[in-house]
Formats: sequence, C-alpha cells, structure tokens
Amino acid sequence: LTQLFRPLDMLGMVYRTIRQGLIDMAEMFRLLDEPEEVSDAPGAPALVVQRPSIVFDNVVFGYEKDRGILHGLSFEVPAGRNYAIVGPSGAGKSTIARLLFRFYDPVSGRILIDGQDIRAVTQASLRKVIGIVPQDSVLFNETIGYNIAYGRDDADAATVEAAARGAALMGLIERLPKGFATEVGERGLKLSGGEKQRVAIARTLVKNPPILLLDEATSALDTRTEQDILATLHRVAENRTTISIAHRLSTIADADRILVMQDGRLAEQGSHADLLRADGLYAEMWSRQAAETEEISEAAE
Ligand code: ATP
Repeated sequence: LTQLFRPLDMLGMVYRTIRQGLIDMAEMFRLLDEPEEVSDAPGAPALVVQRPSIVFDNVVFGYEKDRGILHGLSFEVPAGRNYAIVGPSGAGKSTIARLLFRFYDPVSGRILIDGQDIRAVTQASLRKVIGIVPQDSVLFNETIGYNIAYGRDDADAATVEAAARGAALMGLIERLPKGFATEVGERGLKLSGGEKQRVAIARTLVKNPPILLLDEATSALDTRTEQDILATLHRVAENRTTISIAHRLSTIADADRILVMQDGRLAEQGSHADLLRADGLYAEMWSRQAAETEEISEAAE
C-alpha cells in the first residue's frame, strides 16, 4: 500500500508546486507579461538581507534594442523607508518593478539590495525577500485559510491567524460559520474587492518579506474602503522597505519621498510638500487630479 501511496504523495507535491507557481504567475501577471529572460549565474549565492536598502545605480534599460525605456536611472531607497514612484503613463514605473524582480536585466548599470547586485544572487532568494500587493488578487476555490497561506504548506495555523489579524480580516473570519475553513470564490463565499485586497495583504504577511512592492494596491476600491486598506498597508509597511507605484497621488502624498518619473528619467524627487513648492511636474499632476476629484464630487451632488 505504501508503494501505491508514495507516488500519489509525490503527485500531490508536484500538484502543489505547480499550483503555487500558477498563483505566483497570476499574481505577478501585471508585472510580468513576458517569459523570463534571465538565469542564475553559475554557483550564485542566496541574497542575504539585513538592512533592505534598494539602489538603482545608473540603470539603462530597453525592452527592444533600439528603444530605450530607462536612461541612466539612479535612486536609493534606504532600509525601512516608504518611497513612492509616480509619473505619467509609460514613464517606466512598472519597468522599475520588473527590473527589481529581475524579470529582465539592465543593459548597463546595477541594481543593489542591501549592497548586493541582484544579478549575482539566485532569483529564488531575490523573490523571497520582496512581497507584492498587486492591483487585483487571485482567489482560489479553496478555504480562506488556504488562500491566506497561499499554498505555503509550512505556514502553521498561528501564522495564518496572525496574518489575518494584521490584515484586519479577523472580524470577517469570526463571523463566518466555518471560520478559516470557509470556502471562498465561485463555489463559496463571495468576497468584496476590499476583502480580497485584505487576503492579498495577509498573504504578504505570511511571506513576511523585508521589502514590499505595492502596485497601485487600492485602485479598484471605493474611497472609504481605500482609506481603510491604506491604513492597514501603512501598518504592514512599518519596518519594511516599501515602494508604492501609484497613479492617484492622494494615496502616496505621505510617502517619505516621492520619485517623479518622466520618459524613463527621474524628473524630480522629494516629499509631497517639497514637490508642491518646486511647482514642477508633480505640482501640475497634483492640481490636475485635485480638479478632477472636485469635478467628480460636484457631479455626484
Ligand atoms: P502606466 O502608468 O501606464 O502603467 P508605466 O510608467 O508603468 O506606465 P511601463 O509599464 O514601465 O510604464 O512602460 C514604459 C514603456 O515601456 C512604455 O512605453 C511601454 O510601452 C514600454 N513597455 C512596457 N512593457 C513592454 C514590453 N513587455 N515590451 C516592449 N515595451 C514595453
């Protein structure tokens, strides 16, 4: 009988590994719309992170040979800080995230995490230290506990519960008759957009990464839910190095520093107040968005 079970066990493991891979791929689909082009250097060591600073050092990059996208981009996010990247559509914001994950390598220049060139370490160790909260999260027709543990079979019940608490999901879970064992998705409980985002946040907390990448994490939510989720994200971002990619400036106005991208270059950087005073691209984007918000609220009255 054991002989029969062993292959079945193996199959289960293969199935879980594939499923985990699919979740990762789905989660990252917005960042990664191309197959991987990079491989580990032979004998590459794992990335070791003690103080998770991020440095882009004169990074030049293009998806195609004759069309440059980043033209010598340099910036540093010190360990534990919360930085935002903003800028017009096509400026290169998501490209920065894709390079940080090493889905592509720069043409020249370097990207360092805690002083280590990300080209010189294994991709698996690199991706382990970065958690993403994407725009839309994928939920499975599985229990809410499974969805939070995110296919990480080694996460115990206490870790999953702590993550749910950190993501402010316990209120919901305690109201469910089967708690963490409640099925969600098409065949089970339907979660709202905000609740789905909280599951994504809880997944990130299970992963417990020192670096957090928020890719417009609240774009699909109404204003009130957005405010609630932002407050949760602030707590989660404490003691982590965070980069938020944002279109709506109101969601990142309190970042430690805002990097303003334009045509693959850093046009400006500073705090919200600094950038308003500088009266440049950011100030212009800010007043345009403020005017649009006013129009929307007037139209609603
Ligand atoms: P948005 O705010 O619209 O999301 P963005 O600032 O994130 O824009 P990127 O997605 O980084 O911009 O894109 C920067 C430029 O690179 C754009 O001109 C885009 O067309 C181009 N680009 C993005 N992905 C690819 C790709 N896979 N192949 C070729 N060009 C690409």
